[in-house]
Amino acid sequence: MQGCRRSRGRISPKGRQGKERRAVERVFGEGERVGVLTTEPLGRVLDYRAPEGGCGMGDFVEVPLGPRRVLGVVWGPGEGSFDMAKLRPVGRVLDARPMRAELRAFLTRAADYTLTPLAAMLRLATRTPGLGEAASTRRIYRMVGPAPNKLTDARLRVIEALRDFGGAAVTLGELCEAAACTASVVKGLVKIGVVAEKDAPRDLPYPPLNPAGGARLMGDQVAAGDALVAAVAQGGYGTTLLKGVTGSGKTEVYLEAVAECLRMGRQALVLLPEIALTAEFLTRVEARFGARPAEWHSGVTQTERRRLWKMVGQGQAQMVVGARSALFLPFQNLGLIVVDEEHDTSYKQEEGVLYNARDMAVLRAAICGCQVVLASATPSLESWVNADQGKYTRLELGARYGTAELPEMRAIDMRAQKLAANCWISDPLARAVEARRKLGEQSLLFLNRRGFAPVTLCRACGAQVGCDHCDARMVEHRFLKRLVCHQCGATKPVPTACPSCGVEGKMAPVGPGVERLAEEVAARFPEAKLAVLSSDLFGSARALKQQIELIAAGGAEIIIGTQIVAKGHNFPLLTLVGVIDADLGLQGSDLRAAERTFQLMRQVAGRAGRTGERRGLALLQTFQPEHPVIRAILGGDEEAFWRAEAAERRAAGVPPFGRMAGVILSGPDVAQVFEFGAELARRDGPLQRIGAQLYGPAPAPIARVRGRHRVRLLIKADKAAAIQPAIAAWLAQLKPPANLRIAVDIDPQSFL
Ligand code: ADP
Ligand code: ZN
Repeated sequence: MQGCRRSRGRISPKGRQGKERRAVERVFGEGERVGVLTTEPLGRVLDYRAPEGGCGMGDFVEVPLGPRRVLGVVWGPGEGSFDMAKLRPVGRVLDARPMRAELRAFLTRAADYTLTPLAAMLRLATRTPGLGEAASTRRIYRMVGPAPNKLTDARLRVIEALRDFGGAAVTLGELCEAAACTASVVKGLVKIGVVAEKDAPRDLPYPPLNPAGGARLMGDQVAAGDALVAAVAQGGYGTTLLKGVTGSGKTEVYLEAVAECLRMGRQALVLLPEIALTAEFLTRVEARFGARPAEWHSGVTQTERRRLWKMVGQGQAQMVVGARSALFLPFQNLGLIVVDEEHDTSYKQEEGVLYNARDMAVLRAAICGCQVVLASATPSLESWVNADQGKYTRLELGARYGTAELPEMRAIDMRAQKLAANCWISDPLARAVEARRKLGEQSLLFLNRRGFAPVTLCRACGAQVGCDHCDARMVEHRFLKRLVCHQCGATKPVPTACPSCGVEGKMAPVGPGVERLAEEVAARFPEAKLAVLSSDLFGSARALKQQIELIAAGGAEIIIGTQIVAKGHNFPLLTLVGVIDADLGLQGSDLRAAERTFQLMRQVAGRAGRTGERRGLALLQTFQPEHPVIRAILGGDEEAFWRAEAAERRAAGVPPFGRMAGVILSGPDVAQVFEFGAELARRDGPLQRIGAQLYGPAPAPIARVRGRHRVRLLIKADKAAAIQPAIAAWLAQLKPPANLRIAVDIDPQSFL
């Protein structure tokens, strides 16, 4: 993280020298005063009396709060101002492993860094159902007797299924599904003594993973693998940037580091940016380690989440694959965190607690003394600079595994193309698609715009249809037959008459979205099998995954996709990528726009010709073929791009060479929000004292969301400045009106 080690050591990696010291934690005898941090937004740790039998640091407890009982963690000795006689006792100590000092320190420092109340951080770490419940049981089935000679087909299938499960605990439902039979078939086998049923604890340990085996690393994979394995074996904190084009074997290499971590009896965490990617990855891990690792994200059932939380805390889940919130799990002995596709913007949580999981992974590793691997084909500039300055080790995989090469990349100068109205595919691109079709290969047309058309315009008065609750324009989705706000999700029917001037029949869609592009493709290639991959076309991660598998197996000749295709799926038949609008990311006021465009394009270009003999081709439609970003992409000189971009940011004093924070004020009354912002701006003493500059108040780029007006103040400071305490002191001067909300965004990513 930029500034991670610069903010006066607030967040500096203390655990650097090795494993966390396991000091004996303090125990509080019955009646002693203890401080309990609850998940309630109170802004402080509360004092209680230790319960009968006492309690220890980090214990999960239930405490009375007014008429309620709430969850908390024993955080330290009591502060002591409250009259001891009136102090209420802790309700009970929950049946869960105490929170380790390492995790408590992580929550504290993450709260300080992101200027988030500690209680909100604790909520992230306790987001699991039934955390304190006693272990419950479920009925499981296994083979006990020899199989009789004469068996019905259904019974035979049950026995085979049990053998396939290899002794793992199987429930009736799972068994019936695997054997495609009814419950009575299983019960029949129980009756004749071939199968036994018994009650077993519901929260079972995960099956052990076997670190032996794995691919034989080749070429520069060997050195990279050795370096990572050595780092894990040595223990202690360290971060490595593992850079290599898609298909160069990054996953294969970091799985070796995971294997070493498992051999050492430590736990490994692999973070992925998209739930849709986990299924494919889990299958791969299972093939590598002989069993499935634990899985943590919002799509996982409550029962499974509970099991995982408990098992991780007991050290009985060796490897967790998950989304960013997995960083807050109670690992007992974490040895390695992998952040795959580390540049991905979805690692930044943009609602609730605003944190960047990549940065927090480095922080947690620094505190608990473990290794971090940041894997990417196109690292974020922050990570590139950290590696360049020697703070991170850098490992590079150059050539792709096997014979595959980087695709050939060419620009199509759209200024020279004559396109018909409402058409976006140039002739050279169309010809290339046709050529691939003749060879039985796939083409991908990439357009990072969901929906049918980004704008609905009245041809009579020029008005555009906007969202009633936001300042965003509404996007037509033909598939839903509605207009959708991509900011707040509000929808409404496509109007027949202009909402502004009332004229009938003049409303027209303007500009392309993937759905509209699909229409163009269907008209242009009437015989081609076509698939559209856009996150909003699928109800679930599972449906999306099925579609991806279908495409990978050759179920489509032309794929049309938004950025979800850029996320590492493997399409072996894909040899052509056409980028419909390479200029999209170059516009706008975002300081990271150039970086984003560069990353996205390298990433999609990485789709083409990923495995095997066929050399891929990437064609970029652009109106600005001389733009430095487009030139860097085409030239393939990545280091030149990073150096130029780093120099520009350094000159401007912006991240990662300076520090930034956004403060978003929001409320229903626009005048009141501005007034409060202006008052804050007048009292900028605490910011001035650290030499920071304050900009605003100004309307936030999206000035209204869900009916709330948003005003932004932007703080820019020197990279050595202690920005968090200054912001905290600055904001503490004024009490906001009741309906006004303040959100602080350290290291803002989206500027929205
Ligand atoms: P990346 O993570 O960089 O995209 P992967 O690790 O997924 O690359 O490798 C791409 C493909 O090549 C995968 O199918 C992987 O199994 C295969 N591969 C990579 N390295 C090896 C190796 N040393 N031996 C066998 N297969 C490999
Ligand atoms: Zn809206």
